[in-house]
Amino acid sequence: MKTRVAVLKSMGLPRPYQISKPLHIEEVELDPPGVEEVLVKIKAAGLCHSDLSVINGDRPRPLPMALGHEAAGEIVQIGDHVKNFQVGDHVVFAFLPSCGHCIYCQTGRTALCEPGAKANSDGTLLGGHKRIHKGNQYYFHHLGVSGFADYAVASIHSLVKIDKHYPFEIAALFGCAVMTGVGALVNTAKMKFGDSVLVVGLGGVGLSAILGAKAAGASKIIAADISQYKLNTALEFGATDVIDSSSTNALEQIKDLTGGGVDISVEFAGAMPALNYAFNATKRGGTTVTGALPPPDAKLSLDPLALVGQEKTLKGCYLGSSVPLRDIPAFLELYHNGQLPVDKLITHRIKLEDINEGFERLATGEAIRQVIIFD
Ligand SMILES: [Zn+2]
Ligand SMILES: [Zn+2]
Repeated sequence: MKTRVAVLKSMGLPRPYQISKPLHIEEVELDPPGVEEVLVKIKAAGLCHSDLSVINGDRPRPLPMALGHEAAGEIVQIGDHVKNFQVGDHVVFAFLPSCGHCIYCQTGRTALCEPGAKANSDGTLLGGHKRIHKGNQYYFHHLGVSGFADYAVASIHSLVKIDKHYPFEIAALFGCAVMTGVGALVNTAKMKFGDSVLVVGLGGVGLSAILGAKAAGASKIIAADISQYKLNTALEFGATDVIDSSSTNALEQIKDLTGGGVDISVEFAGAMPALNYAFNATKRGGTTVTGALPPPDAKLSLDPLALVGQEKTLKGCYLGSSVPLRDIPAFLELYHNGQLPVDKLITHRIKLEDINEGFERLATGEAIRQVIIFD
């Protein structure tokens, strides 16, 4: 069948993106779903910083690639050997497939699924296939999703079925921003009721972490960023205190607010000074989690003695250390109950053809979550 997709053909084009137009909206051929694959009509897709990192070249991927990794939609066709899904199901995409068989999936660490990671780095679906092409040229899939499109073929191992009463624009956010931000606290850091929390880097993921900290009972929620607009937004999301992390006494402010440091800091800025700040802001015995994607040449230097003498912990976090099948429905319930008001994240609803303007807005920091709405 034919569908429109947003294709990236070269990385690192100059800004502004509404002029250089890194993403081309093209009509392409979509092959039918194969074994354990389904065809999804995309209803909503979010613009995320990790897409931007591919566009600007910080996170190189094989090209040409059909971009987009945060989406929700409805199944309209199923391939062979599809169990547990049927036509009409509403689904959220998880941007890392979980094969269910590797040692990591078998031990509950699906964020580390090896076949899933290989498919993602190869730019294929989990089964190793590419389904999008123009003539003889096949396009790479972005993280098994390629959600900036009217339709997508996906592995069932990239999908989570959800209740039909959730709006698609909300559900889409749970595939990346919410799963990562909330998961970093409750799964990776194993936050406890009453812990003090610092969130560094206030994009869609960081602001989701603030909502998660509030829902999980943090005693203090301190938000840090270099953008005053984002600090003001953080207060609306439930931060108890905000700190301009570019100020010279940013660390002293944390120590004053907490009497020595926070229990948990989570960092989503992708800049090494931000990670250093997060690490130094934790108290003795504290835990720092980083879920950002820094540029490939970034190197971290921190005081190793603090790891020992202060028993500090530094942990990496991918996909919020989540099990999507378990966490996405649970987090959606929290939204339904009013405890995770993630609708606050959406600052813009746009059309597919306005995607380059949308990424320019994201690059300038004028938007939190922009969601493409498909009719
Ligand atoms: Zn994302
Ligand atoms: Zn696996």
